[in-house]
Order: sequence, then structure tokens, then C-alpha cells
Amino acid sequence: MQKREALEFDILFVGAGPANLASAIHLQRLLKRHNATAANPLEPSIAVIEKGRYAGAHLLSGALLDPRALDEFFPDYRAKGCPVEATVSKESIWFLQSKRKFAVPFIPEPFSNKNSLIVSLSRLGAWMAEQAENEGVQLFDNTAASAPFMENGKLTGIITDDKGIGKDGNSKTNFEPGLLLKAKAIVIGEGSDGSLTRQLSMHFPSISAAQRYETGVKETWEIPEERITAGEVHHTFGFPLESDVYGGGWLYAFSPTLVSVGCISSVGHDSPVCDPHLNLQRFKLHPLIANILKSGKMVESGARTITSGGLDAMPPLCGPGYLLTGESAGMVNMQRHKGIHLAMKSGTIAAETLFEALLHNDFSTGRLKSSEERFRNSWAWEELHAARNYRKAFDKGLYSGLVQAGLQLGIPGLSLKTTQLTLPGFTETPSFNPKKKKIALPVIPEFRADGMRTFSKERSLFSSGVMHEENQPCHLVIKREDIAEICLKKCKKEFANPCQHFCPAGVYEITTEPVPALKLNPSNCLHCKTCEIADPYGIITWTTPEGGGGPGYKLS
Ligand code: SF4
Repeated sequence: MQKREALEFDILFVGAGPANLASAIHLQRLLKRHNATAANPLEPSIAVIEKGRYAGAHLLSGALLDPRALDEFFPDYRAKGCPVEATVSKESIWFLQSKRKFAVPFIPEPFSNKNSLIVSLSRLGAWMAEQAENEGVQLFDNTAASAPFMENGKLTGIITDDKGIGKDGNSKTNFEPGLLLKAKAIVIGEGSDGSLTRQLSMHFPSISAAQRYETGVKETWEIPEERITAGEVHHTFGFPLESDVYGGGWLYAFSPTLVSVGCISSVGHDSPVCDPHLNLQRFKLHPLIANILKSGKMVESGARTITSGGLDAMPPLCGPGYLLTGESAGMVNMQRHKGIHLAMKSGTIAAETLFEALLHNDFSTGRLKSSEERFRNSWAWEELHAARNYRKAFDKGLYSGLVQAGLQLGIPGLSLKTTQLTLPGFTETPSFNPKKKKIALPVIPEFRADGMRTFSKERSLFSSGVMHEENQPCHLVIKREDIAEICLKKCKKEFANPCQHFCPAGVYEITTEPVPALKLNPSNCLHCKTCEIADPYGIITWTTPEGGGGPGYKLS
């Protein structure tokens, strides 16, 4: 076994997203309040590690923020300079056909974004990280959690990425082994489909609940004035998605001259040739969006998967030595298309649990389990419970979903006949059949990006800030024999190699010359995790590249 330097902390957070940063800030504030009057003050060492090259680099979301959780744990957030781009001032929901639009006449309460804030999640994450550091939390960016460290069936540490290993697997002159970071409790908030969470699920199978996922692709645009007002919000369904592919589009105005535009597409079981990047490019051609973006300039682009299984797909919030927060715990409400407020709430629940554990110096699973009860008694559980069957209602397509979603307005959580997932998403991918419209390639061959309004995957990557150390082992692991037998034979025949379509960064290419081969471009990877989820055979394993690699979002 590799000899590693070990560092010890009391509490270690894996991932600097809104859940863990909210948790670290809230915990420090609880400790400060306690220490102000305590005879024996508590001064635990608390650290956050982040695989991005700075806090916020890998954060991407819509992002409409319901400020409820922020108000609770950080009521002075505005006074402290929280980067709020706008407050929602006007909102619409549209059903789109390719050239036409139909406004939904009223916005039902669960879909309303009244009082929500428009934020850039990467900017919000960077600001929260600064606040956490001001509170005394140590932040280590450029540091990926490569593997769990287990002792006696308990998670007691994590191993960080080795740096300086070449493509061939040999150490380079700058080789530095990863560290062993040990802690009394480890809080995992890695976002959707985290690689540490996946490895942990091998030790604790209850973590690997049958989660479902969607992929969001987003761009930020500078536009001429007088098209839109700050705080304007548009949500759409219909075009460009076929009625049996779940998803929809959005356009949010940060200011009269800066907007976020994006499209969510279901990955995996709805359509093996679903191309989330292409869906966004087509969405921008709809007159509703095209008229707003006309003569504008795309300034940032990115992609990320979203957990969408809701309450029924949530794993237990804790286990021996660890707590799960944010999307690692499945904290997304698809009915509201929101998760940041739930992520923050899960973080504060973890903080209160850890505060109690520190007070009693008891980090047993029994003590950590109080997080489950806190969640069960919170507004977050109530909200997720009411929305528990929303996403499932669309399993039989848009129209049946709309009917059920309408009925759920009267009876929250109503389920007519929905599918309870019991297996990981990739096992539900239907075989490719070019004769069936729903999974055929209706537009891909004809679509040509114009470079002004629509962009190729290569061009979009320029605006994502993506970079990796080139000379390192490929972090997308597919066994050689699987490439030969599955990718180039079985998958080609059954699914027409959907990896070429669903990866928003064009990382996967099937080449034919000089011999058929799967060519990987791992340096382009946006860490969105679509491939690991949507691969119909489950043969792709996403491992952590050297810390600091990946996108460099600043506005997403
Ligand atoms: Fe996303 Fe996988 Fe493509 Fe990376 S390789 S951008 S994780 S689909």
C-alpha cells in the first residue's frame, strides 16, 4: 500500500457546494454561540476539500434560489455581500412548438418563484467559501477525494488524489502521493453522482438507491439592452424535446444585459440518443428565446447532471462515520426545479447533528442518526413529500405527466400509476431502433451550428474554462475487453453508441480508421457525470482526475 502522509481533523467536508458550505458556516456559528458562554469551549478543526481549482469552479445550476434556508442560517447574507443577481420580478411558463408559444394562463403555487433570487451558483459558492474561511474553516481546493478510507466497517478518512502520475501510469518527476485525511465525521456533499459516494455504496449498499437523473446544459449570454428586465423568468416545456423525453427549458435575466439560458433533458432510459447539448442549441432557435438572444454573445457554457428521484430515491442521510448532504442525499424538488435551498437545509441539519456530536464527543452512528429525525421534522421533508410523485408522473410522457401534475395541484403527492425505480437508471435504457421516432436521430445529421446563436460541442468547451493536466491516466475507465466486445460490437448494434450523443463535451468518439476504435478526449470532460449514468451497459466508471482539473465556471 502507498505510504501517505496523514492529517487529522474533527470534521471533514468533501465538496464545497452550497450544502457543505452552509453546513460548515452554520456549525462554526453554533460553536461560536456556544463558546461565548461555555466553561469548556469547543474548538474543533474543520476542513472542506474541493476538487475544483477554486471554490465555485464546478458549480452550475439554473439557478433560482428560494432564500428560505439562507434566511434561517445566514440572515445577514445581504449585508455580507452575498452575490444576488436579481429578485424574480416577473415569470411565465410556456408550452412551445417549434415556431409557436402558448402561455400557461396562471402559475400554480408549487411552480411559483415569487420572492426567489436569481443567482450564479458558481459566484454564490465562491462567496460562501469565503464566508466559511472567515468563520475559521480550512478550505483545500485542487483536492479530489479519490477513495474512502475504512476501518472496522466505518468511514474514518478519505484519500486524496495522487498528483504527478503520467498517462502510462508511471510516476513523473513531480509525483506527490495523495494524503490520508482522517476525521471523526465526514460530510459528503459531492453533488449529483459523486464518485466517493459511489465507492462508499459498495460498503453501504443502502446508499445506492435507485436514483434517477437529468442533464442540464446551460449558457450565459450578454445581450443588448431593452429585451428583458432584471429578474424576468421564463420556463418552457415542449420544443425541442419529443413528448416522451422529460425536460424543459429556461431563461432567467440576471440583469437587462445578462441572461442564463438552459435546457434539461432526461438521460438514460427515455432516449439513448438524447443529446442534451444539441437540445439546448435547438431551444435557442425558438423565436421566444432567439429574439432575446439576437446579436448577443455567449460568455459561458457548461453542463451537469441533476438528481431527480425525489424523496423515494433518497439514501439514508448518515451511516458509520459519515453524513450525506445536498445532491449526494438526493435533495432536489423537481416540481419546483429547485434544490439549492434543500441542499442548504440538509447542510444545516448536518451541522446541528455534528454540533451535538461534538458536545457529547460521540460520533457513533446512533448519534448521527438524529439527522434523519431532524430532516423528518423539517419543512424540507414536507416539501419533498408533497412533490414525491411529480417526476414519476412523466414516465409515460409529457401529456400523461401534465394531467397527473395537474391533479397533484389538488392532491399533493398523488400517484396514479407511476414507476417505482428499483434498479439504477442505465438498466432501463431501451434498445436503439431507428424506425421508432422516439429514439431515432431526428435532427442530428442535419444540425449545423452557426457559431453565432448555436455552437458545436468543441466551441462550447472554449467557454467552459475546462482544463486538465494532459499527461495523466484517463479518468474515464472502461475495460479494454469491454471496448472490444461491448462498445464496438454489442452497443454499436443495440444502441448506436449513445455516448457520442449524450456526452455534452464530445469526449467519446467512435472512429473507423485505421480500425474501429473508441477514442476518448478526457481533457474535455466537464465532470457532468452523464456518461456514467446513461451508459446502457454500466461499463464506464468516472474516477477523479488530478484535483484542479475540470471546468472553471465563473457565472454559471
Ligand atoms: Fe460528462 Fe462523462 Fe462527458 Fe465528462 S465524459 S463531460 S462526465 S458525459
